[in-house]
Amino acid sequence: MSEFDLINHYFKAIDSRRQDVTLGIGDDCAILQVPDGYELAVSTDTLVAGVHFPLTTSAADIGYKALVVNLSDLAAMGAEPAWLMLSISLPEEDADWLSGFIKGLRQPMDQYHLQLVGGDTTRGSLSITVQVFGFLPKGKALRREAARPGDLIYVSGTIGDAGLGLKKILNEIKSDHILHYCVERLNRPTPRIALGKALLPLSHCAIDISDGLLADLGHIVEESACAAIIHIDQLPLSNELKNYYQDNIDWQQILTSGDDYELCFTVSPEHCEAISQLTVQQGLPLTCIGEISKGQGVRCIAPDGQELFVTQAGYNHFK
Ligand code: ADP
Ligand code: MG
Repeated sequence: MSEFDLINHYFKAIDSRRQDVTLGIGDDCAILQVPDGYELAVSTDTLVAGVHFPLTTSAADIGYKALVVNLSDLAAMGAEPAWLMLSISLPEEDADWLSGFIKGLRQPMDQYHLQLVGGDTTRGSLSITVQVFGFLPKGKALRREAARPGDLIYVSGTIGDAGLGLKKILNEIKSDHILHYCVERLNRPTPRIALGKALLPLSHCAIDISDGLLADLGHIVEESACAAIIHIDQLPLSNELKNYYQDNIDWQQILTSGDDYELCFTVSPEHCEAISQLTVQQGLPLTCIGEISKGQGVRCIAPDGQELFVTQAGYNHFK
């Protein structure tokens, strides 16, 4: 198959039609329409084989995650997803791999009603770059720089699961715990799109937890020029994770492991009740883990009231 046959066969064939796409795959550019009163939110993320996923990861899981990590960025701004572009570098044309990849990619495309509007296809070592585009009501985005002293800090869902799942598939876990849920959380994270949109009237500030809670909350306090205190006994943990650690919870690992794709956001205390209602509406735990204060940095307070010092802040490609 030529490059063009491959594009037509695999990528152009993914049919999902949106009214706001004037021109999709096939020309030099796509032409897209942003609705009145909205601005465009754009984000991109690359997944490199062996760096962002172990080489044993299935093609479908890679396709799913390549899109969802980007959707998570839209969620963190409160945006509504609309379109994606896909730039893929492949070592060879492997029909089974490509069909699996597209099956995984399609799942969140269908779920969030996205259209693939273009991309690039090259030969090389396996690497996937997805770019997503979404809509935001003008001036309403959730921004990292918008936290204020006195705000409460919340996280959605549970944290630490994906990190434990990764340890499991890298064979770093000695016990015979199966950790199916944690591995699923690693391979099939849920982008918190509905939550992000629902937060627009309640919050100004959010980030998605991709590099670890400490690192990502660290970005918020740095951009907002303030400090954060988190109470580690309030961190929301899954039953599977608690069952694995029993009485010996590895807080350092939980605070620094990434890939959960939950949202961390801040709200002023008057919205506390509205957040409790949102928990019910969304069917998703939203847990207050601490507060924003004046100063700088993130401090973690252990159940005994002592400060917990964490050595490794999160994943960094160039360290
Ligand atoms: P150009 O040479 O102008 O960059 P290409 O030959 O790379 O165009 O691509 C032809 C068309 O196919 C373009 O519309 C491009 O956006 C689309 N395309 C290429 N690769 C992909 C892909 N992996 N997924 C979706 N669309 C793609
Ligand atoms: Mg090209």
